[in-house]
Amino acid sequence: MLEEIKQEDFEKELSANKNIVLDFYSTECPPCEALAPKFESLADSYGSEIRFVKIFRQGNRELAEKLGVKSSPTLIFFKDGEETGARLMGGIRKKDIVKTLDTMLPEEKVAEIQAKIKPVVTQTDTIVLGAGPGGLAAGIYLAQAKVDTILIDQALPGGQVTTTHQVSNYPGFIEPQQGFMLSHYMSEQAKEAGVKFKVAVDVNKVDLKNKEVVIDGFETIKAKKIIISTGASYRSLNLPGEKEFYGNGISYCATCDAKYYHDKEVVIIGGGNTAVEESEFISKFASKITMIQQLPQLTANKAAQERCYADPKINVLLEHEPRGFYKTDNDKMMVKVENLKTGEMKEIITDGVFVFVGMKPNTEFLNEPIERDDWGYIKVDEDMHTSIPGVFAVGDVISKKYRQITTAVGDGTIASIVCAKEIDN
Ligand SMILES: Cc1cc2nc3c(=O)[nH]c(=O)nc-3n(C[C@H](O)[C@H](O)[C@H](O)COP(=O)(O)OP(=O)(O)OC[C@H]3O[C@@H](n4cnc5c(N)ncnc54)[C@H](O)[C@@H]3O)c2cc1C
Repeated sequence: MLEEIKQEDFEKELSANKNIVLDFYSTECPPCEALAPKFESLADSYGSEIRFVKIFRQGNRELAEKLGVKSSPTLIFFKDGEETGARLMGGIRKKDIVKTLDTMLPEEKVAEIQAKIKPVVTQTDTIVLGAGPGGLAAGIYLAQAKVDTILIDQALPGGQVTTTHQVSNYPGFIEPQQGFMLSHYMSEQAKEAGVKFKVAVDVNKVDLKNKEVVIDGFETIKAKKIIISTGASYRSLNLPGEKEFYGNGISYCATCDAKYYHDKEVVIIGGGNTAVEESEFISKFASKITMIQQLPQLTANKAAQERCYADPKINVLLEHEPRGFYKTDNDKMMVKVENLKTGEMKEIITDGVFVFVGMKPNTEFLNEPIERDDWGYIKVDEDMHTSIPGVFAVGDVISKKYRQITTAVGDGTIASIVCAKEIDN
């Protein structure tokens, strides 16, 4: 059973209950909305052993401050009056909540609860897999055409746009828009249209032939059609130290991490559009940027190159390639770089490294044969059909020349119109 409490009830709850999980939520908070159904279903399963309570953060500021809660949602677990496990925040996954809940109970109780969890089957017309701009546009069109639509994402809605600093080329806005606001408008519009969201979920199985997707280990969603809109992610270099120092000296996202390099030195790996455009943003913070490009020239568009070369903070090292990433004794990054012309190796000491060497399609979940190009992007026809009947693909995950928000939205539009017509026939 899930209950809402006020801050004055907290101490009483803590002393009356052996196990409690407390959800600090806010209104107009998409991750809180994404958490709510998961929290409720876990309260149903674990409620006899663990007390599930939620508390409105803005209305109970004193307690939030006392407990050091700074964002919504924040889940805090208590066992025998003491906080236990790690706090969970942001796009919280069901499996991470379950992991902590299970540590609070004896093994036999956990087994008993899990045995009682019944699989759920949900029927819909269309599953849209991936809630970036392509998936959201498809969802809006489908819902407005009265096609029952479930949008599934392993993260919160928005896709790559959420981590984009500013977007100035999406029509309809006079001023540049912050990426996370643009994706917020898109997902709110999709919700308003009637799209059902299943976000920040674990996607356990995707069966394209039978049009079934299993999420969070127990819910099977069955559909007549599937639209794949899982986008693309940053490509890594697969060099020594790259995985080890990811998040601790190595980043793939300027919007997320450039702010940590105020007055510091950084190395950028790459010389294409993303590397050069992101260097402009990083240059607002960093005191010095060394850009390492393997080719004899940058490959970004001319205007971006000109701005890059005109920036006194940026030094471009052409025909050089990184060979590994290491930490120095004083916690700086050391990048080993080879001069491709002379074979000479050198070490660059820096505060941080940004890697911008392209993207790869998010298709790891595919275990059925589907036609793709040499780089793994899904091939589609002009109506966005893939080689599997009833399965469409849109946006950055498909084989095409230009990957932009507008093109993803355009693909989503086409697929959803065709999909709606095929369902009606
Ligand atoms: C730093 C940066 C700046 C950019 N700036 C611009 C710009 O200014 N203008 C512009 O037009 N474009 C820009 N782009 C490109 C633009 O963001 C993309 O072209 C666009 O987001 C593609 O949309 P999409 O819906 O195809 O995929 P994505 O935005 O990649 O969204 C895919 C979604 O699918 C989800 N997903 C992935 N795998 C699974 C799975 N197995 N199951 C369920 N869900 C899954 C992801 O979590 C994600 O939410 C930028 C990109 C980056 C990285």
